[in-house]
Amino acid sequence: MNEHAPQRDSEAAAVELIAVRAENPGPMTLAGTNSYVLRDGDQVWVVDPGPKDPEHLAELLMTCGTDARPQGVLVTHRHLDHTAGAATLARQLSARSGLEVPLRAADQSAVPGSRPLPATLEGDHGTVGHVIHLPGHTSDSVGVLVAGGRMLSGDTLLGGSSTVIVPDDGGSLTEYLQSLAILRAMAVDGRIGSVHPGHGPVYDSPLDVLEALEQAIAHRRDRIEQVRRARTAGVLTMERLLRVVYGAELPEQLRDAARWNLRATLDHLAEGH
Ligand SMILES: [Zn+2]
Repeated sequence: MNEHAPQRDSEAAAVELIAVRAENPGPMTLAGTNSYVLRDGDQVWVVDPGPKDPEHLAELLMTCGTDARPQGVLVTHRHLDHTAGAATLARQLSARSGLEVPLRAADQSAVPGSRPLPATLEGDHGTVGHVIHLPGHTSDSVGVLVAGGRMLSGDTLLGGSSTVIVPDDGGSLTEYLQSLAILRAMAVDGRIGSVHPGHGPVYDSPLDVLEALEQAIAHRRDRIEQVRRARTAGVLTMERLLRVVYGAELPEQLRDAARWNLRATLDHLAEGH
């Protein structure tokens, strides 16, 4: 917490949260990447600019507004469906406002041109958001808890679908389960009232959020148990495990994601869980 930031308490000082969906639908991106604009008076932040699609970036620029004072472009993790347009958008916002607009990411080596994420986003009227580290999907995944209990969850919790753990990007099922536990504890505490995911629809009540988290945790626990039982029964190779655990009807375009999740599950078991 920044002790010097003024407390935000009046309705008039509410931070506006605007979602802009990119037209990049697919098996991993669902209906497309959700980009978010946070507005506090004339100060704006953009979270996950999404793909480098000129129309999408133009829509984000318009949403920020011509009179805006852009404070930064943030990404929730390294994947291109969240970051590819980030540097371009930061430049465009900078050119229009005459301000320096930093690109910020948890892992600078994974996002060229970025600087570290701040712990909090501070506006003229108080704290606009807190950055919460939520590794698991990738090692650099974060959420942004926007004032008013609105959690931008990136790909840690998706709307209406389960995410993929990507071991090649430092993803870890052990860390993912810890991140889900952090989110659940925050939700139980009343700190999260809604979740705005990187893909898919919003969970717009505390109960929906808690149910989604419980479901995500139960889903992983089920998978871990299935893999454990299959291995005990003598199913040892990746391809055989894939068939036994996911079934023969697994669509081709989800096969890679299933392989990554399976590898993450095997790593989790190998850690002694
Ligand atoms: Zn994504």
